[in-house]
Amino acid sequence: MSQSVLISGGGIVGSFLGLELAAREIPFKIIEKKPFVSSEDDHIRSLTLNLSASERLEHLGITTNSSLIQRMKIFDGSGSGKLSFDCHEANIDYLAKVFNFNELREALIKKVESSVSIGDEITSFKTIESGIQASLSNESTLDSNLLVIAEGRNSNLAKSIASENFSKDYEQIAKTFLVEIPELNSEEAVQVFHEKEIFALMPYKNGTEINQFSVVWSMPKELAHDLSLENFSTHIQKFEKKLSCKIKVTSELLSFPLSAHHLDAYCDHGVCVIADAAHSIHPLAGQGINLGISDAIILAEEIERAVNSDKEIGQLAFLKKYELRRKTLNASMIRGVDFLFNLFQQDNPYLRLGRNSGLKVVDKFSFLKKNFILHASGIHKI
Ligand SMILES: Cc1cc2nc3c(=O)[nH]c(=O)nc-3n(C[C@H](O)[C@H](O)[C@H](O)COP(=O)(O)OP(=O)(O)OC[C@H]3O[C@@H](n4cnc5c(N)ncnc54)[C@H](O)[C@@H]3O)c2cc1C
Repeated sequence: MSQSVLISGGGIVGSFLGLELAAREIPFKIIEKKPFVSSEDDHIRSLTLNLSASERLEHLGITTNSSLIQRMKIFDGSGSGKLSFDCHEANIDYLAKVFNFNELREALIKKVESSVSIGDEITSFKTIESGIQASLSNESTLDSNLLVIAEGRNSNLAKSIASENFSKDYEQIAKTFLVEIPELNSEEAVQVFHEKEIFALMPYKNGTEINQFSVVWSMPKELAHDLSLENFSTHIQKFEKKLSCKIKVTSELLSFPLSAHHLDAYCDHGVCVIADAAHSIHPLAGQGINLGISDAIILAEEIERAVNSDKEIGQLAFLKKYELRRKTLNASMIRGVDFLFNLFQQDNPYLRLGRNSGLKVVDKFSFLKKNFILHASGIHKI
């Protein structure tokens, strides 16, 4: 009998893994606890996917609307430091694509809908001879050869298989909203580090012809609580000044608390953890889901290899191969982003000077920038 995979969590990465397995003709079932309810805020949240993840989605038949990022500019708001990246420096067509979060999620889940069960959740699981047996909230049980936990941050099932070796509350909130800025190039992403704030603008045409951008503005919790419609323009002025433009806000503001974590291990007999259930990261580099998508691609490759060699897909030895190929890379990205976050939070004048000069120096070394682009776009991997 063919082996099957049970996926807990039908978010973007859980559904994407389903699609990867479908492409390999490996049977799977997704259990998603929340029915999809559309809301007025659906158009606001964006997601930036690197070139490698975007191309894989296209290859699997996902052709949702997106906007291209061809250039990116990074500014140190407390000085003259500036760094820019252009896709042509690395001979690639674009650096990343910006999607609408909900549109992408819906497109993915639609592709695998015949294998999705919505409204229940897996409450516990135990190891049985053929793999695992999962107990559901509707009191039924499901047997499978492998359980994949893709439940996002704060998954109890993930915590039951490993502890966290890195955990951080950034004491920050990300405000996400849409803006119109006619003065900026509509294929350019911009990021300004200003004291304890990080202001990122991503091109977000979303079917319109106007220069619309999606904003992710990370700020200390206290500022997020004080921010109101009355004082909003005062707080955004420094970014308008830095970018020599006028920012017109066109949507509500959504809020997300920011934290990061990393599990000590990604698997046990018959079970493994992927994406935000295993690791989460500050959004300043827009890498969270890119890491999750890479997890899913590598896991699908290892499952296929086990199936083709008539081995049990729940065997720890196979699952450890997935862990080995992903854990160190994920850890270095989480630590790297954390280092950047800390570097730009410092107000020591010497550090600020070093940071500004460092940005200018790196900006002059095209081979360094090319390497950075190839890593961030997911082209350099093992
Ligand atoms: C402000 C902000 C901006 C970001 N921007 C970017 C970006 O530009 N680029 C990028 O790469 N990343 C970005 N990220 C990170 C990205 O959003 C996450 O990495 C990504 O959403 C994680 O996907 P996931 O499928 O692992 O988890 P989730 O999106 O959390 O999905 C998990 C799913 O599992 C379901 N679930 C949970 N528990 C259970 C259960 N017990 N049983 C069944 N189902 C369950 C949930 O209902 C949900 O549907 C950003 C994050 C934030 C906060």
